[in-house]
Amino acid sequence: MAKINDNYLKLPGAYLFSTVARKASEFTEAHPEMEIIKMSIGDVTKPLAPAVIEAMHKAVDEMGTAEGFHGYGPEQGYDFLRNSIVEHDYKSRGIDIATDEIFVSDGAKSDCGNIGDIFSQDNKVAVCDPVYPVYVDTNAMAGRAGDFVGEHWSNLYYMPCLAENDFLPRIPTEKVDIIYLCFPNNPTGMTATREQLKPWIEYAKANGAVILYDSAYEAFITEDDVPHSIYEIDGAKEVAIEFRSFSKTAGFTGTRCAYTVVPHDLKIDGTELNSLWNRHQCTKFNGVPYVIQKAAEAVYSEDGQKQTKEAIKYYLENAKIIREALTEAGLTVYGGVNAPYIWAKAPNGMKSWEFFDKILEETGVVTTPGAGFGPSGEGYVRLTAFSTKENTVKAMEKIKSMLK
Ligand code: PLP
Repeated sequence: MAKINDNYLKLPGAYLFSTVARKASEFTEAHPEMEIIKMSIGDVTKPLAPAVIEAMHKAVDEMGTAEGFHGYGPEQGYDFLRNSIVEHDYKSRGIDIATDEIFVSDGAKSDCGNIGDIFSQDNKVAVCDPVYPVYVDTNAMAGRAGDFVGEHWSNLYYMPCLAENDFLPRIPTEKVDIIYLCFPNNPTGMTATREQLKPWIEYAKANGAVILYDSAYEAFITEDDVPHSIYEIDGAKEVAIEFRSFSKTAGFTGTRCAYTVVPHDLKIDGTELNSLWNRHQCTKFNGVPYVIQKAAEAVYSEDGQKQTKEAIKYYLENAKIIREALTEAGLTVYGGVNAPYIWAKAPNGMKSWEFFDKILEETGVVTTPGAGFGPSGEGYVRLTAFSTKENTVKAMEKIKSMLK
């Protein structure tokens, strides 16, 4: 008889976003006269840049010609894109990354999730709390997380990210093997400076640990001392894998293109993780479509850079509007300076879901309860800067008058 992977049965329901959506739609039904404004979505809203669309059209036309047709592509990505990534995202910052250390993929989510395949089941995994749920759930699926008891997985090492520590995790006090870090952070919108990241590289070296560094929001960084890549820190190539994505950088959430960097210097017992990941991708992944990789390449063109940076600026202006309005309303807020997320403390000791309900019921604005990202998110709500400016302004006016 076939047996299922019963680790899947241990997963608690993905209740956060479904509950948010259910509550929002129940509210709409009960109050058809009220406008709903979603400040909860983690998806971009601005259309693709003209330079990207132009490149995509051109690639589509090529595919209709005998000379320009592309069938199965290299699983690691076409060199034209890998070389552009090396040039623009690394060499330009003084980081030496080789073309064959870049693996183009259809998403940072898939890569963050699949990377676990190249690690043994008996690794101790450390995650931040609150956390992007993909890191936790994929380790649970692999049997690495143990059992879900109360609010925690029994075998994971949780690193609470709290206000008193600027939402930075503390270096583990016990030995862990795999460490997920995400800066700029989803959900807190906070980030780490070069100096703050150095001890993590030292810890990983001293303990033979691997850092899985998710830099999906790198394009939102505005402050000089915040690194865009973990490889800006000396020695990181020996201990870290980096995940990047065109999703938030260039509005590719529906277009799908990302990449993962696995340096040759990263070895466990003499085995290069680069060769294991290469084997993984060649066996389990078909590569990103030629047309999409051409679109991603256009992000690095002069026009592409100008246009995509405009969109980021627009979202960051929304973030500023949110930060300022909530601060004016008397709330304590974090994030939103180097990230499209604002992490707002609920007033008067309210719990995340209580504050979520109050905002929804009194203003029609939908947020995301922080507790849904992990127990240390309790008492916060997350707002995103991906709405239109008009809706952002409107939502903030409503929340301000609610809190008066
Ligand atoms: N990593 C983080 C921290 C995210 O918040 C997200 C998306 O919300 C992703 C990765 C997913 O990126 P992609 O669209 O490339 O799969």
